[in-house]
Amino acid sequence: MRVHFLVAATLLTSSLGTVKAQQAGKPEDTEVWEPVPKVVTPGPNNSAAPSDALVLFDGKNLDQWVSADDRTAPAKWTVASGVLTVNKAVGNIETKRTFTNYQLHIEWRVPANISGTAQARGNSGLFLASLGKGDLGYELQILDSYNNKTYVNGMAGSIYKQIIPLANPTRKPGEWQTYDVIWTAPTFATGGAVLTPARVTVLFNGVLVENNVSLLGPTVYIGKPAYQSHGAAPIKLQAHGDKSEPLSFRNIWIRELPVANQ
Ligand code: MG
Repeated sequence: MRVHFLVAATLLTSSLGTVKAQQAGKPEDTEVWEPVPKVVTPGPNNSAAPSDALVLFDGKNLDQWVSADDRTAPAKWTVASGVLTVNKAVGNIETKRTFTNYQLHIEWRVPANISGTAQARGNSGLFLASLGKGDLGYELQILDSYNNKTYVNGMAGSIYKQIIPLANPTRKPGEWQTYDVIWTAPTFATGGAVLTPARVTVLFNGVLVENNVSLLGPTVYIGKPAYQSHGAAPIKLQAHGDKSEPLSFRNIWIRELPVANQ
């Protein structure tokens, strides 16, 4: 016991010494004054675009979008009354611009009269980086997940067939839903090997559903994902082939984030 006491006393004395050393100097020694973060004026509410955001859809037109299957062709989804509605006949649309790391806000609505079940009920998707035609890319699932049973790695808020959401905060069909996404693109070595996987954080109606999760690779419908080297990429919205009534979107904006210091 006595030995233990001596050891404890010695440890206590040395840790007090460390604390004293850490407290040497002035408070000003540990103040950092530069670089000063830029001023960003927030929107009138937390869903509105802040001053440094690029607005991708403001309710008026699809000037920032093209057809995902033919990037020389315009995006021919329907814009009416400030709302963008999927046109399933023309396929997916994606942004003209490409992005690497970003913060994105998007609002989506499943029609109140939605029909169908499971994956065939209000299915769309937000491809966080589009890697080509069709459904190539990393899909954050959009689906009516209000009392609609399906595989849980395919419900709203999932990284499709990879990562189950932490919660299901889906509102009823007919109501607007929000996704706030922080996307960190994967990085690759010169030879194409993955240096750092893609990571994503998702707030769904303000509820954290994906917490800085690492992706296994681009989304695949069948089989296991595998990375292939790529650079900056468009953001894509899915026109899913199911027979249910098409979804709508509004208020889409993005803030690009630095690519350094990953
Ligand atoms: Mg989908």
